[in-house]
Amino acid sequence: MKPCLTCFAFTIAAFVASVAGTQENAVKRNQVVLKYLGTAGWEITNGTTTILVDPYLSRINGPAPPGGGSGHPIAGDTRRAYKWTDIATPDIAAIDAHIQQADFVLVTHTHYDHILDVPHIALKTRATVIGTESTENVMRAYRVPEEQLITVRGGEDYQFQGFSLRVIPSIHSPLDHKHYFSSATAPPGMKAPLTLEQIHPEGGTLAYLIRFPEHQILAFGGNNYIERELVGLEPDVVLMGAGASRNEIYDYTGRLMRDLHYPAVALPTHWDNFLVPYEASQQPALEALQSFLEEIAISSPKTKVIVPKYFQPIPLGK
Ligand SMILES: [Zn+2]
Ligand SMILES: [Zn+2]
Repeated sequence: MKPCLTCFAFTIAAFVASVAGTQENAVKRNQVVLKYLGTAGWEITNGTTTILVDPYLSRINGPAPPGGGSGHPIAGDTRRAYKWTDIATPDIAAIDAHIQQADFVLVTHTHYDHILDVPHIALKTRATVIGTESTENVMRAYRVPEEQLITVRGGEDYQFQGFSLRVIPSIHSPLDHKHYFSSATAPPGMKAPLTLEQIHPEGGTLAYLIRFPEHQILAFGGNNYIERELVGLEPDVVLMGAGASRNEIYDYTGRLMRDLHYPAVALPTHWDNFLVPYEASQQPALEALQSFLEEIAISSPKTKVIVPKYFQPIPLGK
């Protein structure tokens, strides 16, 4: 069936408008609200507990992912260009402008566009950082206290106050036309300051199913998944990798939608060009996202797709 693009665009526009309308109402008690921080970063709160996923506010002019992918430098960027051997330096002002508090930080993998800001956020908010051994070793290098660290490998299903968290084994986006592969892990015993290279061994990749009483949110940090790990999950919201490398994967969107039983809401993640500041135009990335919207419309027509704007609250219905 050929999708009606005009109708679809209208549906999206109407939905975005209705979300905006909802925002004008006071956020209801215990309402779950999401905010896109750019790259694969999200803030998810129910008013009681605030969970960050891969928060990355610094958006440095860093090295591009192998094969390009969603990050590429733009002409005229006057900011200093990072080399792998440079000290990883978070933009404290950018972080502090947007992150006031957090209870948990979930890290999907140890790449700089996912972890650069996490030590500062952990030290500032005293949030518990959940991630792989590689992630936790980076935290240790920055002297994040051990009691704030929960090391996971995938398969854990933990109960916390007010929510539960299933840690899902996953795999990294197939960058560089499937040639990307990393078995590197950040070792124990490192001491800050670390170079960009030292905070960039993938260390394995995880996804997270966050279960609040009224919503289940499945968060990916990129464009790939292990299909059998998703069997039986029924999230109503999926933060779904929508970068170009998903096109390297067989029936990426269709299989995911079927496996998750057609979630009510899909929020594309890791689709923007993260090598440019927040103010820069994301028009090319937004245009590239159109094919993702079409894939969802075809494979899961009842799923509402919200293209997130940076820092704009997205309240979930009850
Ligand atoms: Zn990565
Ligand atoms: Zn990434």
